[in-house]
Amino acid sequence: MIKILDKEFIPYISDKQIRDRIKEMGSEISKEYADKKPLLISVLNGSFIFTADLIRTIDTPVEVSFIRVASYQALQTTGKVREILGLKENVFGRDILILEDIVDTGTTLEHLLEAFKDLGTKTIKVATLLHKPDAQQKAEKPDFVGFEIPNKFVVGYGLDYEGLGRELKEIYQLR
Ligand code: 5GP
Repeated sequence: MIKILDKEFIPYISDKQIRDRIKEMGSEISKEYADKKPLLISVLNGSFIFTADLIRTIDTPVEVSFIRVASYQALQTTGKVREILGLKENVFGRDILILEDIVDTGTTLEHLLEAFKDLGTKTIKVATLLHKPDAQQKAEKPDFVGFEIPNKFVVGYGLDYEGLGRELKEIYQLR
């Protein structure tokens, strides 16, 4: 058990489980994008560790870029989604793979998919390390999913609680 500020968290997904599953995702993604040279778009902050580990399991050429969308505060979604920040690449006519740490209500994802479609992308898919199917209120489903998890708050491996816990090697669940 660990404590972050006022909350207690218990170990939930080990670093070995994460590593093994990411390797499998990397193979699936390599197969899907062989000879396509996709642009991987990592959604900061939460996805930075997942992105770094995932791209090293991919064995076909890819480009990587980082963007930001802030839509979440502390323990619950605010419902407010802001603009895409920091996109420098021209995505017109490109195969895009969005990398998310977690898809919860799907609000962020829905917004991102719309925004990228408007920019004239050729194809757009989503890889997420974690997916909360119980919480998803939107039609869009991620194409590559690491782990389906129950609708409980998690931290670690890039995911934070009030800015803390990103450095944890394992994923922890709210007790
Ligand atoms: P959505 O728009 O799908 O509701 O939420 C997506 C964002 O909410 C994620 O990118 C992440 O930042 C945050 N989020 C959702 N569930 C959790 C959770 O269990 N733990 C943490 N740390 N962040 C979460």
